[in-house]
Amino acid sequence: MSARIIDGKSIAASMRARVGAEVARLPAPPGLAVVLVGEDPASAVYVRNKGTATREAGMRSIEHRLPADASQAALLALVARLNADDEVDGILVQLPLPRHVDAQAVIAAIDPAKDVDGFHVVNAGLLATGGDALVPCTPRGCMALLREAGTRLAGAEAVVIGRSNIVGKPVAQLLLAADCTVTLAHSRSRDLPAICRRADIVVAAVGRPEMVRGGWIRPGATVIDVGINRIGTADGRHRLVGDVAFDEAAEVAGAITPVPGGVGPMTIACLLENTLVAARRRRGWKE
Ligand code: NAD
Repeated sequence: MSARIIDGKSIAASMRARVGAEVARLPAPPGLAVVLVGEDPASAVYVRNKGTATREAGMRSIEHRLPADASQAALLALVARLNADDEVDGILVQLPLPRHVDAQAVIAAIDPAKDVDGFHVVNAGLLATGGDALVPCTPRGCMALLREAGTRLAGAEAVVIGRSNIVGKPVAQLLLAADCTVTLAHSRSRDLPAICRRADIVVAAVGRPEMVRGGWIRPGATVIDVGINRIGTADGRHRLVGDVAFDEAAEVAGAITPVPGGVGPMTIACLLENTLVAARRRRGWKE
């Protein structure tokens, strides 16, 4: 292996400690409200982890659990209450929502100033136009990893694979804002290996296990693997792999994130950072 491993776990731990230290200096602890609808086991784990991390950073975690058959009206009423609650600085509605709920309508109902997931169209628009957006957590985490890895951004060729609103598009916007030349590739892109091979920075956010092969990576490139895929093993268990064939890519890349332990831990750390940012802006607390 020649690539340097970008240790998301330790970078996220430092970020969380830094947020905790800044929170300790605030006049009051910021509050993060997390709303979970239904019993999806993966979502329940995420919500529990977010609650623990929030408390560890010295913030207040306010958790609301609604049954899987909760109506859209009930969810919108809860969001309206949280919008109006002065003690709540951040609101996160855990996705996915049950099918009978219109997730876009729920996101649109969140006060953009409290939208710590950065999914509201106002924040997406601010990000696209260079304003003071609340930036989606996973993309923010990708940029923090690139910066920690010392990757040169200005003028770099960056290829993002995947165009979701949650990861691909905001990562592309952030790379553009950092003066990269950005290509946003997706399921209909022609000759993806050739597109990837010209990249100094590859961000894979596809959801296809080990799709990006070693031969797609330009020697010395930085590879950020956002994918989290559970695959079955021969002994009937599961393991997590990314969208990048790690062993192959690590032979060629200059630096690479592992899965797990790369982008994953950064998402919660960036959520805490967003909550701190939202609290400061809303309450007029200086940095
Ligand atoms: P998504 O399904 O919304 O989007 C996937 C994108 O990949 C689409 O834009 C599609 O065009 C593209 N795509 C699909 N097949 C392709 C192909 N064969 N070639 C090129 N592009 C293709 O997924 P998402 O929400 O953006 O998540 C992507 C991955 O990132 C998933 O594995 C998800 O679990 C993971 N994820 C991780 C974190 C984290 O905290 N680390 C957060 C969010 C998502």
